[in-house]
Amino acid sequence: MEKHQFKAESQRLLDLMINSIYTNREIFLREIISNASDAIDKLAYTALTDDKVGIARDDFAITITRNEDDRILTVSDNGIGMSREELEENLGTIAKSGSLGFKQAMEKQEDIDIIGQFGVGFYSAFMVASSITVITRKYGEDKAWKWVSNGADGYTIEETTKDAAGTQIIMTLKEDTEDDKYSDFLKEYEIRNLIRKYSDYIRYPIKMEVSKSRKKEDSEEYESCTEEETLNSMVPIWQRAKKDVTEEEYNSFYQDKFFDFTNPLRTIHTSAEGTVSYKALLYIPGKAPYDFYTKDFKRGLQLYSSGVMIMESCEDLLPEHFRFVRGVVDSQDLSLNISREMLQKNRQLTIIARNIEKKIKSELKSMLENEREKYEAFFEAFGRQLKYGTVSDYGVHKESTQDLLLFWSHKQGKLISLKEYVEAMPEGQEKIYYVPGENKEHLAKLPQVETLSKKGYDTLLFTEDVDEFIPQTLMTYMEKSFCNASSEDLGLQTEEEKKELDAKAEELKGFLTFVKETLGEQVKEVKLSANLGTYPVCMSPEAGMSFEMEKYMKRMTPEYSFSVGRILELNAGHEAVQAMQKAMTEDPLKAKDYAQLLCYQAQLMAQLPLEDPYAYTELVCKLMV
Ligand code: ADP
Repeated sequence: MEKHQFKAESQRLLDLMINSIYTNREIFLREIISNASDAIDKLAYTALTDDKVGIARDDFAITITRNEDDRILTVSDNGIGMSREELEENLGTIAKSGSLGFKQAMEKQEDIDIIGQFGVGFYSAFMVASSITVITRKYGEDKAWKWVSNGADGYTIEETTKDAAGTQIIMTLKEDTEDDKYSDFLKEYEIRNLIRKYSDYIRYPIKMEVSKSRKKEDSEEYESCTEEETLNSMVPIWQRAKKDVTEEEYNSFYQDKFFDFTNPLRTIHTSAEGTVSYKALLYIPGKAPYDFYTKDFKRGLQLYSSGVMIMESCEDLLPEHFRFVRGVVDSQDLSLNISREMLQKNRQLTIIARNIEKKIKSELKSMLENEREKYEAFFEAFGRQLKYGTVSDYGVHKESTQDLLLFWSHKQGKLISLKEYVEAMPEGQEKIYYVPGENKEHLAKLPQVETLSKKGYDTLLFTEDVDEFIPQTLMTYMEKSFCNASSEDLGLQTEEEKKELDAKAEELKGFLTFVKETLGEQVKEVKLSANLGTYPVCMSPEAGMSFEMEKYMKRMTPEYSFSVGRILELNAGHEAVQAMQKAMTEDPLKAKDYAQLLCYQAQLMAQLPLEDPYAYTELVCKLMV
C-alpha cells in the first residue's frame, strides 16, 4: 500500500487541528455534514438531466451511525462521491475554500480561537478523531477507494468496494482524558443537539437510529427499541418565518455558508409573491474578504429552485456595485434544468435581481439613517466599492449608490453623506465644494478651504483616488453643482469684486508677465487670486484637471501619464508678493529669485514633488546670506 504525505501547509493545519485545545470542537460534525450535503447537491443536480442516477429526490440522505464500544462515529451520504484523483486532491491538500480561509487567518496570526467559527472543513474532524477512514465511490465509476489517515503520518489510499455512489466518513474518536470527553460525541442526545444547533437547515434528512420506548402489545408496560429518525427539520432557514429564526441561527448559517468568522452587519430576510415568487436571505458582511478588491473575488448569490441548488454563485442576481452582499435566493418559478445561458436572459431572474437591488439599497439607507456607527463600519469595508459602482458605466447605477456615499466633512470633522452636506448648506451657498488630495490634514490647510471656511461653507475632503470622478459622474446632487475648490472659481465674488480683481490684474499686468517669463515652462499661467486668505501663493491645476489625477495616472498607467498644467496664483495683498513686486524695479535679479522661491513654495503646498530639491535649497541659502 502506498503511503502519501500531506502537502506541507496542510500538515501544519492538521497539526493545529490534532493538538487543538479549542472548546468548540463540536463543529467538526457540522463540517462533515455540510460536505455530505454539498456532495448530495451535486448528484441531485446531475439527476435533473441524467436519468441513470436513479435516486428519487426523497431518497437522498445523510446517515449517522454510532458504535460506542469501538468509539466509532460514521457519517455516510449517497452523494456524488470522489474519484481517486479527487480524493487525493481534496483531502491531501488545502486547496479548498474553507481551509484556505482558515490558513490565511492563521498567517495573519489572528487568534487561534477562531477555529471552528470558520468553515474549517474536513480536517476539523482531527480535533476529535485519532484516525479517519474515508470510503468513497464516485457516481458513474465502478471502483471505490479507501483513504486512511491518523493525521500525523500522512495517508494511504487503496482500492475497495462499495455498493453505490457516495461517501462514508468513519471517525475513530480519541481516548477520553480527564478534561476531554470525546466519547460524548457518540451519545445520542449529544448528536441530536449538535444537529439541531448547527445543521438543522440541511435540506436532506440526517438520519440516525435512536432508542425509543414503545408500549408492549396488550400490556401497559413499555419496552425499548430502536428506530430510525430524521434529526433535522430540513427546512432551509430562508423558508422559515422570520419570527421563528433567531439571530444566532442567522449568524451561524452565514458563517458556515460563507466562510466568515465574524457576524454579518445586517441580515436581510425577504420574500415576494406575485409575478415572481421567491425567498431571499441576504447578508451584508462586516469585513471585506481578503480577495475582495481583486479579480479572484466572485460575486453572486446562491440560486436554488424548489430546494435544489442550481447555481453556486449567480452573478446576474447581484449588481457589481453591491457585490459585497452574500446570500441565497430560492424561487420555484425557475425551471430546474434551465441552462446557464438561458438563465441570463430569464425574465423572472431579471425581476428578482431588480427587486433585490432595491431591497439592498433601502436596507443600507436605513442603516445609514438609523445605525450610523454600523454603517460607518460597513462603509469602511465597502465604501470604495460603492464609489466605483457610482462612476462605472458612465454613472448609470448612480440612483442606487449616490445616496449611500460618505465623504469627510471639513467643517463637521466626520463622514457625511451628500444629502447631509446639502441640507447643512447655509443661505447663499450654491455649490458643493470639494478638494482632492492625499490626506485630510493637508487638505484642511489649503487656502481655498480656509477661505470657504471663513464664509461658513463646508468643504468635502476627497482622499481616495476614485473620489474625484464622482462629481464628474454625478454632475449635480439635489440640484447643486460640484466645485473643485482647488482648481475652479469658487464663485464667491460679487460682480463688483470680480471687476476689482480684473482691474488689479490689468494694473499689475507687467508684473504678472515678469513672473511668468521668469518661471518659463514651469507654469502655464500666472494670475491673481482673491481666495488665498493668509497665503501668498498657491499652485492650482488647469481647468477640469487635478494634480491627483496626474499622480494617479503616473502610478496606474505610466504609459498614458500626462502632466497637468500648473497655474501659479498670487495674493496681491500679501507682503511677500508685494516685496517681489517692489524688487522687480529695484533689484530685478532678486525679484527673479523671489518668483522662483514662491513657485517652489506653491509646489510644496500642493504636494507636488520638486524636480530639483537641490536648486531649491541653494536658492533659500542664497537668499539668507
Ligand atoms: P470545503 O468543504 O471547504 O471545500 P473540505 O476540506 O471540507 O473543504 O473538503 C474538501 C473537498 O473534499 C470538498 O470540497 C469536496 O470536494 C471533497 N469532499 C469532502 N467531503 C466529501 C463528501 N462527503 N463527498 C464528496 N466529496 C467530499
